[in-house]
Amino acid sequence: MTPKTANLSAHHYLQNACSELGFSAMDTSLMMQPSREIKIQIPIRKDDGSIACYTGYRVQHHNSLGPYKGGLRFHPTVDEDEVRVLATLMSLKTALVEVPLGGAKGGVDCDPSLLSPRELEMVSRRYIQKIHKSIGPNQDIPAPDVGTNAQVMAWMQEEYSKIYGYSPAAVTGKPLPLGGSPGREEATGYGVAIIMEQYAKERGETLENQRVAIQGFGNVGSYAARFLYNLGAKIVAVSDSRGGIYQEDGLNIPEVVAHKQLTGKLSGMSGVIELSSEELLELKCDYLIPAALGNAIDEENAGKIKARCIVEAANSPITPFANEILQANGITIVPDILANAGGVIVSYFEWVQNLQFYSWGLETVRQRLRNKLITASRQVCQLTNEKGISPREASYQIAVSRLHEAFFLSGI
Ligand code: NAD
Repeated sequence: MTPKTANLSAHHYLQNACSELGFSAMDTSLMMQPSREIKIQIPIRKDDGSIACYTGYRVQHHNSLGPYKGGLRFHPTVDEDEVRVLATLMSLKTALVEVPLGGAKGGVDCDPSLLSPRELEMVSRRYIQKIHKSIGPNQDIPAPDVGTNAQVMAWMQEEYSKIYGYSPAAVTGKPLPLGGSPGREEATGYGVAIIMEQYAKERGETLENQRVAIQGFGNVGSYAARFLYNLGAKIVAVSDSRGGIYQEDGLNIPEVVAHKQLTGKLSGMSGVIELSSEELLELKCDYLIPAALGNAIDEENAGKIKARCIVEAANSPITPFANEILQANGITIVPDILANAGGVIVSYFEWVQNLQFYSWGLETVRQRLRNKLITASRQVCQLTNEKGISPREASYQIAVSRLHEAFFLSGI
């Protein structure tokens, strides 16, 4: 599956929502086109003296609801199509959870695992040197995504501040001593757990003993696993890019996290069965959480999925074709723009704290995150029931109508 196919997914659902809401072809086209796309060259001198050149992107989709906001991905597959779809998803996500921000996304087509710390720092600083005029606290606020982390954000914030003076609100996802927010690192995974708890509650269930399989054990997957484990769910399988592990009675997640921290991989743990990431997707379980990259579930494997419910912790993990197969098979899908919105909500809280030069405590952040996600989840559930549509269709219709209203109120 190529990133171009992923490109179709958000646009496909966005177009359907516009059509359901009765928007004209011109309005639909204005909602779909990004307002600006930036493409840059990032040359760096490698440690061995040679020169490498990467391509960087920033796509700014919509800013009617507030400054553009979205992560930065460092991964070899990054290209303009992928960044464009991820920017669109960000606009929808911020609209759905009602934070006063727009949507953007960026990335560099480098493989951070092949870069030394100095080379990674060079790529991060170069990126800001090239796009600083187009970002900033009131314009566009980057954050971490796949392949980037708090350290990368620290370098970027410092580079931006060299030009404009101390500007902690220029990027989010920073380390705590540099103006990061308590609870930002855990936020997306914690949000996944909150949404699942709410989903279960709406069905008169709890997560106690529910069998969960998680693909991807990075920031999002590992924090989701920790919170779900604490809520009593049985995490039967987890995987990363090097393979996965399975335990019929449920994995001991604190031990798995410690093993991964120590060895850098999931395999090699005693008392567990090893399996591939593809096998994990096809396990019989209550909840399947794709938390790695896009297009993990496509028309090839959709028919083999046996989970009751799929919670899209990753962005665009299901292609539109696969979405149809899963729906026909009666599998509920909690869409990415709701399931993984915890990250952008706490990024918003970080930005607010930075603008106020004031820091909130962890419990305040967690409680405010819970409030926002539960409100959005209830709104989606209500529209799903009222119209007899899927949670994805309901989420898109809510988000698109808010975006449309703001876009046209602010004038052409
Ligand atoms: P990360 O780089 O921390 O982790 C990615 C994980 O996926 C790693 O464990 C990696 O080994 C694994 N992986 C890669 N290919 C795999 C494969 N084929 N099979 C199994 N595992 C594989 O990234 P992250 O921040 O956890 O992001 C994961 C997803 O969540 C992405 O789609 C990202 O866009 C989305 N997301 C992240 C955030 C955030 O706050 N970090 C917010 C919203 C959405």
